[in-house]
Amino acid sequence: MLDKVLIANRGEIALRILRACRQLDIPVVAVYSTADQDQKHVLLAEEAVCIGPPNADGSYLNMATLMSTAEVAGASAIHPGYGFLSENADFAESVAESGFTYIGPDAETIRLMADKTSAIQEMSAAGVPCVPGSGGPLSDDDQANRQLAESIGLPVIIKAVGGGGGRGMHVVHSASEVPSAVDMARREAASSFGNSLVYMEKFLELPRHIEVQVLADNYGNAIHLGERDCSSQRRHQKVVEEAPAPGITDAERERIGALCVAACQRIGYRGAGTFEFLYENGEFHFIEMNTRIQVEHPVTEMITGVDLVAEQLRIAAGYPLSYSQSDIELSGHAIECRVNAEHPTTFVPSPGRITEYHTPGGPGIRLDSHAYAGYSVPPHYDSLIGKLIAHGPDRDTALSRGEIALSEMVVEGIHTNLDLHQQILTDPHFVAGGVSIHYLENKLRADADG
Ligand code: ADP
Repeated sequence: MLDKVLIANRGEIALRILRACRQLDIPVVAVYSTADQDQKHVLLAEEAVCIGPPNADGSYLNMATLMSTAEVAGASAIHPGYGFLSENADFAESVAESGFTYIGPDAETIRLMADKTSAIQEMSAAGVPCVPGSGGPLSDDDQANRQLAESIGLPVIIKAVGGGGGRGMHVVHSASEVPSAVDMARREAASSFGNSLVYMEKFLELPRHIEVQVLADNYGNAIHLGERDCSSQRRHQKVVEEAPAPGITDAERERIGALCVAACQRIGYRGAGTFEFLYENGEFHFIEMNTRIQVEHPVTEMITGVDLVAEQLRIAAGYPLSYSQSDIELSGHAIECRVNAEHPTTFVPSPGRITEYHTPGGPGIRLDSHAYAGYSVPPHYDSLIGKLIAHGPDRDTALSRGEIALSEMVVEGIHTNLDLHQQILTDPHFVAGGVSIHYLENKLRADADG
């Protein structure tokens, strides 16, 4: 097994990694910024090192400091979590070149998938269905780009080749707007991602966001663990996720899952990963691959019984997969609510001290959270303070368990979106299942107007 793991992250995912390491008897070293000395995983870890100022550039994004900390602490492996350096191929490369084990795929694979158009080309070659589009970066030829938009069929969306976080996407409704949208997207892409290349896809009007979880080892074995529906989004950020996706048949799951497994084998994927799709009119369209653990991984864990983070650690230690495809059976339904420290109607982050904190419980309830009474949510990072996951033998039970758990949960001293989650879990369209990626925003707009 790995000798010692440096957890290069903070918040609930750092705690999640700590728990998986403990499960496997792997010692850890936690790292924290000066704003994070009271993080739960820092207090629980046998060893913790302050790595710099609150500003992530000086701490959680500082590759040199992370690696020298690993060296001094005698860590043999680094877990990047999600966000921060988790999809940074240069980091994965430096970690490996410095003799540490990077808990994730090879730098080359991360690089291939981080470039959205090379990812699309690889997936098309593996037989994975993609969104109709340019297939590669757009040229500077306005006329050609206008014609391309017409041949794909308007509306289209202009996206950054190096994009992420749902930023810098532009929907275009008429061919004449294409050149200005491309210009704008290029400028934003250059300043946000340091890469001005953009590409074009058909804009799907009422899709659902459905993604497939995979695990692959060093020996060419790969499996899929079914799908998650993450269509409830605000500003392209997921708010509620569930598994399995309502209405997806076993045959559809097996077909798309097998294609993802084939794609993993084609690109020599290693570790946990997610293939993201837009699903419309009964068809899956690949949009991107996340080469890391995702925020919403617990819903898959709840219905498969697989500890995905422990599997990441085992795979990195060189073990073959603990499961074959036939071992993976889906049991019941799970729903996750992302609990954020934010104002319920303006969505402005609400950092500050949590004065009272009561957690829910009962059958099928899991709370992955680093928060506690007396903890201060710092203003420097994302506003996620925890994830409430409800599992049940069927979707209705998962929904009602989730709703009861939400009603039990108390977080005082800061604003949270707990009420919004109550509204979502009791919304008749959400309860019916299968809402599109626009449903939540439309509902929020209607509620604000009405
Ligand atoms: P990012 O890496 O920035 O998250 P994605 O390609 O994963 O970018 O897209 C994020 C979200 O943007 C999707 O979940 C979906 O809501 C929307 N989106 C992306 N591409 C399209 C498209 N072709 N048609 C409609 N919506 C899209």
